[in-house]
Amino acid sequence: MSSNNESFFKGRFDSVVFRLSDQTLYSDVFHISKHDVPMPSIDDLRETIELIRSILFPGYFRNSEINKETVGYYTGAKLDRIYRWLSEQIKRGFCFTCETSEMSCSNCEEKAKDLTEKFIERLPELRRLLAFDAKAARR
Ligand SMILES: [Zn+2]
Repeated sequence: MSSNNESFFKGRFDSVVFRLSDQTLYSDVFHISKHDVPMPSIDDLRETIELIRSILFPGYFRNSEINKETVGYYTGAKLDRIYRWLSEQIKRGFCFTCETSEMSCSNCEEKAKDLTEKFIERLPELRRLLAFDAKAARR
């Protein structure tokens, strides 16, 4: 490290860290709910979408070794994960704006589970529609 870098890290660098870490300065771009529920996670949602794709099109995405004997096992295990992950992310979305100050927010959790159940129940129809579109595109 050159002496120029040392002066940067001793002064200006620390100043940048301080300003980026100062809650009074980042409060406009940072949100935490009143009961400490984290914001929805883009990474977890991306992973959930990948799981949904893998059960809508078994064998095309992940678990390419899947066959008719194992498809039920894989589908059930993945749907269980999708349910837990998606309901958690939806709950976080509801809690983003809810006013509850209690540490556990049962209202948001119930709404999230209800929506997740409705979404999961529509997956077979979603696949039917996607397969129909794919067939139409091949014609
Ligand atoms: Zn809430």
